[in-house]
Amino acid sequence: MDLKSFIRDVPDFPKKGIVFKDITPLLQNPQAFHAVIEQLAERYQNKNLKAVVAMESRGFIFGAPLAVRLGISFVPVRKPGKLPHKTHQETYDLEYGKDTLEIHQDAVNKGDKVLILDDVLATGGTAAATIRLVEKAGGEVVEAAFIIHLGFLNGQDKLKRTPFFSIIHY
Ligand code: AMP
Repeated sequence: MDLKSFIRDVPDFPKKGIVFKDITPLLQNPQAFHAVIEQLAERYQNKNLKAVVAMESRGFIFGAPLAVRLGISFVPVRKPGKLPHKTHQETYDLEYGKDTLEIHQDAVNKGDKVLILDDVLATGGTAAATIRLVEKAGGEVVEAAFIIHLGFLNGQDKLKRTPFFSIIHY
């Protein structure tokens, strides 16, 4: 199945000069959505993972069904002030300004192997901050997975020694 054909380019969204990779046509097609979850499940089953850690909010769309499929925990990483219990925080640079992400302190146990999952790897700031959050909580990031990798933005360089995987490459 040509999964790339289910990604819609939306020019100048959310601002001029950005080509937004819209995943909603893929979500609308049950076979395509299923194929994505199955491809990830095949790659990550039998890896002794304890959790799928996904970033707000489009990471949740793929992370939750994958965690259920693998029979492991789902851990949400969220924008500040959304998680109700004690959190770790990581701040990272955006093109203009900064942003912060949080994880619950008790979301993973010490030494747990986890997978990080988001829809798009762009500049890599979000994924790098999430790796640091998991490490603060005591977990070990085995791999960072993305549905879409925008290779020309070199976000993979920010992940340093964490291996990454993507289904669709631009
Ligand atoms: P980054 O921190 O630059 O790697 O950005 C990653 C986050 O921004 C991901 O959670 C994506 O959902 C979103 N994102 C960045 N660039 C795009 C794009 N061109 N199309 C769709 N989503 C994007």
